Amino acid sequence: MSITNWAGNIAFGAARVHRPSTVDQVRAVVAQAQRVRVLGSGHSFNDIADTPADLVSVAGLPVAPRIDPAAGTVTVAGGVRYGELAAHLDAQGYALHNLGSLPHISVAGAVATGTHGSGAALGNLATAVTGIELVTAGGDLVRLDRGDAEFPGAVVALGALGVVVGVTLAVRPSYSIRQFVFEHLPRAVLDERWEEIASAGYSVSLFTRWAGDTVDQLWLKLADGQEPDGFGATPAGRAMHPIAAMPAESCTEQGGVPGPWHRRLPHFKLDFTPSSGEELQSEFFVARGDAVEAFAAIERVRHLVTPVLQISEIRTVAADDLWLSPHHGRDSVALHFTWIKDHARVAPVVAALEESLAHLAPRPHWGKVFHHAPRPERLADFLALRERLDPFGKFSNAFVERHLTGS
Ligand SMILES: Cc1cc2nc3c(=O)[nH]c(=O)nc-3n(C[C@H](O)[C@H](O)[C@H](O)COP(=O)(O)OP(=O)(O)OC[C@H]3O[C@@H](n4cnc5c(N)ncnc54)[C@H](O)[C@@H]3O)c2cc1C
Repeated sequence: MSITNWAGNIAFGAARVHRPSTVDQVRAVVAQAQRVRVLGSGHSFNDIADTPADLVSVAGLPVAPRIDPAAGTVTVAGGVRYGELAAHLDAQGYALHNLGSLPHISVAGAVATGTHGSGAALGNLATAVTGIELVTAGGDLVRLDRGDAEFPGAVVALGALGVVVGVTLAVRPSYSIRQFVFEHLPRAVLDERWEEIASAGYSVSLFTRWAGDTVDQLWLKLADGQEPDGFGATPAGRAMHPIAAMPAESCTEQGGVPGPWHRRLPHFKLDFTPSSGEELQSEFFVARGDAVEAFAAIERVRHLVTPVLQISEIRTVAADDLWLSPHHGRDSVALHFTWIKDHARVAPVVAALEESLAHLAPRPHWGKVFHHAPRPERLADFLALRERLDPFGKFSNAFVERHLTGS
């Protein structure tokens, strides 16, 4: 039976799918394979995880989170989903600094692509990683910790260095968040007060269809001591889905009701289908200071964008030092597009968007639909690390060749 990604637009072409339940089994699979890729929870929208050879899922490895209170860390199996880890951490009085819009994704898969939430002061989810344990090409177990020279290359690694079997993440004391939703933010206010809006909460998201003279929704996720400011938008009179016409039962609680971090930072609940469920996604990152020009660049192609768009989301991500991170060395604004599920119609629009944004040096989300990725500044260092850990390219695939190795 063929397996597909979450969106159903990629049918994995793997000759064999392995589901090991111990690290030793992972080591044996990798040692025997000629070409191998790792599959997380399959939430990427392109062929990043695909291979015609061996595919390994680490979802079956024992999760066993180990909290180290003195170090302020938790160590977990790479295949654990954020929703499960977060509930465990919160029950022990701990938290992560941020979460993506959905709790369904695996930690190793999210980290491998630089998955992010929102927050002007918050790095992507990979920035919480303080240590990473990989099964490398020869079947060896290799650990890299923050402070090791090659560590920044091993975290956002697109699955190209080995199978991540263990991840150590920084934790902090559990905290509470209140979520407020506003509707119809005047479009002009977004440009005039962009920096204030982006910093108006612990985590801020804007949802827009790039049509008309308002931004559809402003979502503020506030920490203790922060007060909501709608910047002239109207407080939503009901619970909202980012796609306003969809029922909000899949969304985390709004209306300013305080709740634990992991039940407010994701937009969607673990037990429900996130987003629209029938979709493709793209996302591009430019410098946060170029946000207003980026909005104008998108609007220049809005006649192409809106017919295939379900909803766009605007978020922010703080700069980091991870070599292949899309946020490397640059405080970023994230320009996300939830498209209709029709690749033939969406692909040319993505090309037009990339062209319209080109003067702002956009970087794509590695796990979403895109055509062009600029050469990462630290690519040579990454390839040297790959040469050391995987000299024969056992963990390579067409995606890695297209975007990194150029072969
Ligand atoms: C509905 C929806 C909402 C989303 N929301 C967000 C969001 O808010 N923010 C955001 O940034 N992204 C978002 N994404 C994208 C998603 O977070 C990324 O695609 C992420 O990589 C998915 O993780 P995964 O476990 O499904 O990885 P997969 O798609 O399974 O794999 C992605 C990459 O990680 C590698 N990988 C996976 N596991 C391992 C491992 N154990 N060892 C080594 N490499 C591994 C794979 O080889 C592959 O290269 C969303 C996706 C969906 C479907």
